[in-house]
Amino acid sequence: MLCPYCRSRQTRVVDKRDAQDGAVIRRRRKCLDCDQRFTTYEQSAILDMAVIKKDGARQNFDRQKLRQKIQVACAKRPVGPEALDALVAGIEQRLISRPTKEVASHAIGEMVMDALKDLDQVAYIRFASVYRDFHDAEDFEEALKQLQGS
Ligand SMILES: [Zn+2]
Repeated sequence: MLCPYCRSRQTRVVDKRDAQDGAVIRRRRKCLDCDQRFTTYEQSAILDMAVIKKDGARQNFDRQKLRQKIQVACAKRPVGPEALDALVAGIEQRLISRPTKEVASHAIGEMVMDALKDLDQVAYIRFASVYRDFHDAEDFEEALKQLQGS
């Protein structure tokens, strides 16, 4: 993080605060060289990410919506809000590092499933059953089998 005043790289976070329900992380930083303070906002890069749905409709990436879906899958499971935030942040990181500004909704779903598999297997199955739109017991069995094999 460069100091906007003197371009120094020696900065330190002095205060971190979530704005808009955790949608944006606001950090107060202090430059160790010139002593100026400034504010950074994380997550601006993701705001213009377009999500392409199965029917071809486009939507702006919505962090809150994604978090809510994952939260539903994690209901009554030992997954705290911090773990949820970390999961969503991890997905955002993966999205940011992609070369395009578009992502298919199913690709996000796969990322969530990847992460949930390691975090909580019940939440994983719940999420997968909604996201993959299981049509019958066979689909469900298949997901279970994948879990056990991993
Ligand atoms: Zn400075």
